[in-house]
Amino acid sequence: MSTTKAYAAASPAAALAPLQIERRAVGPHDVQIEIAYCGICHSDIHQVRDEWGGSKYPMVPGHEIVGRVTAVGAHVKGFKAGDLAGVGCMVDSCRACPSCQRNLEQFCEKGAAFTYNGTEMDRTTLTYGGYSDRVVVDEAFTLRISPKLDLAATAPLLCAGITTYSPLRHWKTKKGDKVGVVGLGGLGHMAVKLAAAMGAEVTMLSTSKSKEADARRLGAQHFGLTSDEATFKQLAGRFDLLIDTISAPHDYNKYLGLLRVEGVMVLLGVPPEPTPVAATSLIFGRRTLTGSLIGGIQETQEMLDFCAEHGIVSDIEIIPVQQVNQAYERMMKNDVRYRFVLDMKTL
Ligand code: NAP
Ligand code: ZN
Ligand code: ZN
Repeated sequence: MSTTKAYAAASPAAALAPLQIERRAVGPHDVQIEIAYCGICHSDIHQVRDEWGGSKYPMVPGHEIVGRVTAVGAHVKGFKAGDLAGVGCMVDSCRACPSCQRNLEQFCEKGAAFTYNGTEMDRTTLTYGGYSDRVVVDEAFTLRISPKLDLAATAPLLCAGITTYSPLRHWKTKKGDKVGVVGLGGLGHMAVKLAAAMGAEVTMLSTSKSKEADARRLGAQHFGLTSDEATFKQLAGRFDLLIDTISAPHDYNKYLGLLRVEGVMVLLGVPPEPTPVAATSLIFGRRTLTGSLIGGIQETQEMLDFCAEHGIVSDIEIIPVQQVNQAYERMMKNDVRYRFVLDMKTL
């Protein structure tokens, strides 16, 4: 065991504050990473504040982790001290169930070990995330990071990147497809960049008129203001695929009306409360409403390699870890362009 500095929430109402945690000793298959940067995902806020229920405390959030390898176990083949490495939303899974066999560890039938607010596969050892200076992870759940990309701006790819890449690939996004991205935050801005890189004709659907110029710079060809009802008439029946990243409750039925016949709407945002869906929103036009959860480890590596090839990183604001609570408040006020990244040197 080794003692590690971290920032943690003690309860749903508490501000995040410094805490010493224990990390396990480096096992034969483990990689130890000195964390350089960790992105702040809206899921960190939902879980710290227990908006989804069942949160475990003390909670050290953070699943957009990049840094340098400082030690490896005797059986580790793919990493050595000094390498860049990343950790996303999972640190282990059963590796044997049908989902794990299909490289869909996020759907592990035994329940994957999520990077924080979960347990290791022993079901008792709490997992602690990346708002800390060091992490020990099995090599099988460690990602290779290209030195070609800016390291801090690469961190958000580990969640925002894979979460948007995976549905774009699953629904076979190709040149000319009309893709609508709903909500321009951390996930949304990655969805725009990735869909544009895949050749899609991207429309940004946002409540924030002030983000229009950014949306176009990120790769959107069109912008629809969703606080204006006329937008839903103008764009009715237009999209092959809608990627919905909104973190708060909203009316899915309105957005389903924007799909073409047999179009698909993928929910990525996880609002704390459910929203009713009318059967007619789906029946007319045989439309599909579905969801997607991050992505498997193999696909996460594929996404990182795709981003290295296309020069894609996140647009970030780097902050010292002591400003994490203010960053949460700013995200709740929709004041983020487009991902906060904690500089872990400041811990
Ligand atoms: P974020 O950076 O806070 O962005 C959310 C965006 O949603 C905002 O920028 C805003 O965009 C829009 N929005 C916020 N409140 C709204 C409201 N009341 N009505 C309409 N639009 C609103 O959050 P994020 O980190 O991208 O995460 C987004 C959601 O995805 C969260 O719920 C998070 O938990 C979830 N998530 C899911 C997965 C998965 O695997 N499925 C993975 C990661 C995160 P505009 O200003 O453009 O309207
Ligand atoms: Zn996340
Ligand atoms: Zn499994």
